[in-house]
Amino acid sequence: MSMYSDTNSLSLSLSLSHRVDTIIFDKTCTLTEGKPCVTDVVPIDHKTAASGALGVTFSPTASSIIMLAATAEQRSEHPIAEAIMKAAKEGHNVHPMPLAEDAAVSFVGSGVSCDSPMGRILVGNRTFMKSQNLILTPIVDSSMWNLEIQGKTAICVALNEDIHGVLGVADVPKEEADDAIRALRALGMDIWMLTGDNHTTAEALANKLDISQDHVLAGMFPQDKARKVKELQSQGHIVAMIGDGVNDSPALAQADLGVAIGAGTQIAMEAASMVLIRSNLHDLVVAFDLAKVVFKRIKWNFMWAVIYNFISVPLAAGVWFPWTHMTLPPHYAGLAMALSSISVVISSMLLRLYKRPEEKKHKRRRTNGR
Ligand code: ADP
Ligand code: MG
Repeated sequence: MSMYSDTNSLSLSLSLSHRVDTIIFDKTCTLTEGKPCVTDVVPIDHKTAASGALGVTFSPTASSIIMLAATAEQRSEHPIAEAIMKAAKEGHNVHPMPLAEDAAVSFVGSGVSCDSPMGRILVGNRTFMKSQNLILTPIVDSSMWNLEIQGKTAICVALNEDIHGVLGVADVPKEEADDAIRALRALGMDIWMLTGDNHTTAEALANKLDISQDHVLAGMFPQDKARKVKELQSQGHIVAMIGDGVNDSPALAQADLGVAIGAGTQIAMEAASMVLIRSNLHDLVVAFDLAKVVFKRIKWNFMWAVIYNFISVPLAAGVWFPWTHMTLPPHYAGLAMALSSISVVISSMLLRLYKRPEEKKHKRRRTNGR
């Protein structure tokens, strides 16, 4: 279930949760399992073999490309880096070249670069390659596109001036994502997906999860995500941002309610006001549903307390005395006072009977099935 840092932030988060009308999801690790796998390695053949800084020639094969990528990614914490390291170790049995402690630099939301004994290695997406002045030849572009239309993330691997390979990285949507999104819509939420990944991959996932294309924004840097949250807020929406990574923290902090995925980074958890410990999206549905149920109960209790006091206070004050010549004995008045509090407490304790939305759904299914 969700965790809150203290009682004040618990009540603040609850009171905000029941007003939220727009939910923005990050893609990688939030809607997807975050356990990506390298499924494709496409070597890009250049006419001339590349010559490294030390005059080392490089011939692109699946294993040599994975070795280059693993060299750059060996200290990165990104899920894509983990996938590449796993492919190097288990799939191709190659070892990354040893690097100095500060030889690799991570570019949040785009890729990594490092200085290796063979020269400069760059691993990342299109935007990253372009920002490093590398040319995406038509063959590189079409290899990437081939992977992206399958919903895979295409990553370029470059050595010095040339892109020598494209990796296809596949990540599956979380098992409960589809159901959770449907349940959130049923609670009246508008659903968005923002990602640093490219458009084609993002759209393929959005299609699977029934998120409309005009609610999908791809190629976003951390500040773009925060800007989108701000834009929706300025249109009068109460926005919850759900994310896991370093790249989500500005948006988590900007949102009315930031929700971090428990399996995500520490920085995301610090920027958020709620954490889904089990990283399960059903818990998110419970958080919003429970907030609505609690607030309904508060309003209900308030209404009954007002009605009760409206009737019993004039009664105790003797409104009927001129006609009945009877007064309410003080101990009865005292008992009536206690009863008003007891009824509110009992009504609130009934919240213990709260059922998670999926339990309610199963119960309904069982009843209909009879
Ligand atoms: P999301 O917003 O979906 O969580 P990220 O912002 O973490 O995604 O990453 C956006 C894109 O940047 C990735 O899809 C990938 O193309 C690229 N990228 C980020 N970090 C790395 C890395 N360490 N290695 C390779 N590519 C990376
Ligand atoms: Mg992410």
